[in-house]
Amino acid sequence: MSTLNRREFLAFTGTSLIGLTLGGITDKASAQEKLELDNPGAKALQYVHKSAVEGAMCSNCSYIQGEDGQQWLPCALFPGKAVNSQGWCAAFNKKAG
Ligand code: SF4
Repeated sequence: MSTLNRREFLAFTGTSLIGLTLGGITDKASAQEKLELDNPGAKALQYVHKSAVEGAMCSNCSYIQGEDGQQWLPCALFPGKAVNSQGWCAAFNKKAG
């Protein structure tokens, strides 16, 4: 079993700290608050986390943003909030294509 000398140990811990710091910043930048059902805008548009309308859900709405495949995604109608990809609201507008 090898042992780390002081220089190797400092290089290792420094790299680890940089990685942890950058990871934390990235997580905070990408994190968005989930849209709550009692949000006034959500209530006005009857938003639900699980659509009851066949073939209509946030993941295939033209207002959805972000990358496909994520459970919670930004919506152009609710800035700073994330909606459930399985959700729905009265402003649903089917994506073209
Ligand atoms: Fe979902 Fe409504 Fe936003 Fe469309 S407009 S993505 S249905 S919350």
